[in-house]
Amino acid sequence: MAEPSWMDSARALVGKEYGRVYAWDKVNAPMIRQWCEIMGVDAAPYLVEGAVHAPEAMLQVWCMEGFTLNNYPPGSTTENPYEVLKLMEAQGLASVVAVNSELQFSRAVREGERLYYTTRLDTISPEKTTALGTGYFVTLVMRYFSEIASGDEEVGQLLFRVFKFKPAQAAAPSAPASAPAKPKRPAPGISDDTRFFWEGARAGQLRIQRCTACGTLRHPPGPVCPQCHSFEWDAVTASGRGTVYSFVVMHYPEVPPFEHPNPIALIELEEGTRLITQLVGVAPGDVRIGQKVQVEFHTYDGDLVLPQFRPVPDAR
Ligand code: ZN
Repeated sequence: MAEPSWMDSARALVGKEYGRVYAWDKVNAPMIRQWCEIMGVDAAPYLVEGAVHAPEAMLQVWCMEGFTLNNYPPGSTTENPYEVLKLMEAQGLASVVAVNSELQFSRAVREGERLYYTTRLDTISPEKTTALGTGYFVTLVMRYFSEIASGDEEVGQLLFRVFKFKPAQAAAPSAPASAPAKPKRPAPGISDDTRFFWEGARAGQLRIQRCTACGTLRHPPGPVCPQCHSFEWDAVTASGRGTVYSFVVMHYPEVPPFEHPNPIALIELEEGTRLITQLVGVAPGDVRIGQKVQVEFHTYDGDLVLPQFRPVPDAR
């Protein structure tokens, strides 16, 4: 299929290099310490006296704008590396979703180094239709450099890809009038780490991941034990009994297919882990913290089995 002619001006931007965006601050110990604290990383190995260096994964942080949008340090480019997205917006591709963010590191950056990055519009895909809608994957590559008197040195790069699209429901405004299809429940993204949980639900079991090295139970599921860092795990079947640890009642926005008000609870299981779930069989105004609940499984849209919790009388 031939491309719309306006895409010529978008494709003409492919390969364009945009100017430097500088860091507000040189690489410094307080920022490293705060970043590590927020990320739950031990900062000590990075804050060695005389050898302070930043965690590699922190690279993007140094050149961020801060709380005020587009507030970059003096000397930074005023060009908009996202101008191609503006072109697409003007053609009705109003929505955007980030799909890839891939950092590569050449080396750690050290205290006192001043960084900047440049941006290249790397690629625009052919037109694609996904469940979200129809549009284009746009890939930008930011290269990070350290300013060095003898010649700036590349320290890493970030590949950033977005999908810029016309939402599916807005794509066919002139479709013949008929009853709109009832929206389905959003299905969980299932990975190797979480498959046991959803297979358990289909089998009518509420499963909890267990570290086979130290026995610690954990939820939500993940690849590594936060206690002992073992990758080995299995699962146990929970009793399904728990208590309401906390809850919210969603009133607005009303998102189909859910009914509103919609009570969502954080359930503390007898076994000690907690999970977020929808409550059933209770008036939204009657949910109480500490309320005893019992799991039950409901099937939606033919094959989606979800654990939900229903209040039960307190046996005490
Ligand atoms: Zn463990």
